[in-house]
Amino acid sequence: MLTVWPALEADTSEMCGLIGVTGISDAAKEVFLGLMNLQHRGQDGAGIVSVVDFNTKQFNLQKGSGLVENIFSERSFKSLRGTVALGHTRYATIGRQDPNLLQPFLDYQAGISLAHNGNIVNVYALKDELATSGGMALPHTDSDSELILKLLTNYLSNRKPTDKSLFEGIEFLMHKLVGSYAVVGLDDTGRLFGFRDPDGIRPLVLGQKQNGDGRTVYALASETIALAYLGYSQTLEVSPGEAVLIDAQGNLQRKVLKANSYSPCMFEWVYFARVESEIGNVSVYQARFKLGLLLAEKIKNLGIEADVVVPVPETSRAAAIAIAETLGLPCRELLIKNRYVNRTFILDGQQARQEAIRKKLFPIASEIKGKRCLVVDDSIVRGNTASQIIDLMRLSGAAEVILVSTCPPIKSPCYYGIDFPSPAELIAARDNEDEIAAKLGADKVVYQSLEELKAALKQESLCTGCLTGCYPTDVSSGAEFQARRMEDRRAISGKEHVKGHVNQVG
Ligand code: SF4
Repeated sequence: MLTVWPALEADTSEMCGLIGVTGISDAAKEVFLGLMNLQHRGQDGAGIVSVVDFNTKQFNLQKGSGLVENIFSERSFKSLRGTVALGHTRYATIGRQDPNLLQPFLDYQAGISLAHNGNIVNVYALKDELATSGGMALPHTDSDSELILKLLTNYLSNRKPTDKSLFEGIEFLMHKLVGSYAVVGLDDTGRLFGFRDPDGIRPLVLGQKQNGDGRTVYALASETIALAYLGYSQTLEVSPGEAVLIDAQGNLQRKVLKANSYSPCMFEWVYFARVESEIGNVSVYQARFKLGLLLAEKIKNLGIEADVVVPVPETSRAAAIAIAETLGLPCRELLIKNRYVNRTFILDGQQARQEAIRKKLFPIASEIKGKRCLVVDDSIVRGNTASQIIDLMRLSGAAEVILVSTCPPIKSPCYYGIDFPSPAELIAARDNEDEIAAKLGADKVVYQSLEELKAALKQESLCTGCLTGCYPTDVSSGAEFQARRMEDRRAISGKEHVKGHVNQVG
């Protein structure tokens, strides 16, 4: 269970879920069902946009705060008509209740809508550049996703809306944007398009299936789980720097426009993605299980003895089972998650977060008492959650608590959308394993090694910036980014907007 502190940014760097569909009647309903399977990527709000009529260039856009199933109803789909639609589910870090920051963003005049998963590191420089360029349409919000839309629509404003100009516009973006981005968009001619950053940091997959009349239907989504649920039998990963375009007639074009490296975020496998998904053609479940197998060998070599393995729900479960099987120990769900309590890390104030963790996890003390417990979690960020969990185990009478992290020590910030804070706040940036154990109140802390992580994920190249301090992109604007995030956070603190719902027809 990843628990991190409130994010610092006013721009809306965020991890999100995306899906776009074309070539099927009631495309928005299909998008809705896809979003239901991407809900783990964001629970703060969602939106769907459809192209209702290509001839009149009419869109319908609906967005709201909260869970996907609470935002859309049968009534929504009476307006969200059409054969091309796009949806987004948002995991916000700040401004989470501001309906203006929900995606997709739509530029009615330009006839383009898009949604984005990731974080643009040079967002401030690009905003300044746009503002001083003169004659350019400017974003209405602080969202880096809206900035991507405005950069694209400004580029296209004096060009004919051909496939060629759209590819050129995307290539232009790839030369401007620094950071992580998976983007899915559509336009008023009925084209669906998507692209992935030149280092492939954020995931994007293309799916294909036949509809009832034999026509090929395409979808672009953040994870394979959404496509598998919807019956897209053929899926492939969009390559780093690749753009995909499907026109209203169902013609597919794919072009690699700017490829730098293959550096998918290791944290997708460790924590973020659904366990049923494949990321980079590797099963998330198998990767997590392998993380556990490798950790079990390390635990054996360290001579650690225990009576029971306890997963911290829910992402560490596969690893905990693998550890238990290898060590010949029982694996027991002794920390029970109350699924009706909201995430802890978006709460303000340490006391609120501690209270929330107590509400969220409850120990089965009768099974913990007197036992040496191997507690398996996906990661340790600041250590606040870990220390709370260890307290719960101790109060339940555990004889020993050994904390096992399936992720190696997180020592550096993430500039690509995961809210790992500055090094000063990261416990592993300051302390070694023994010091961390002492601070958290554990008898011992065992971390995965970087080599084992790479082996488990079967990846030669990965983004491991938060583990090593080496990032796949230029992060020289990272210091300014961090400083302005701090400023913005102070300015925004206490000014959360009220929940809202946005319906737009244009
Ligand atoms: S820095 Fe870490 S969390 Fe951020 S994208 Fe890279 S691997 Fe993922």
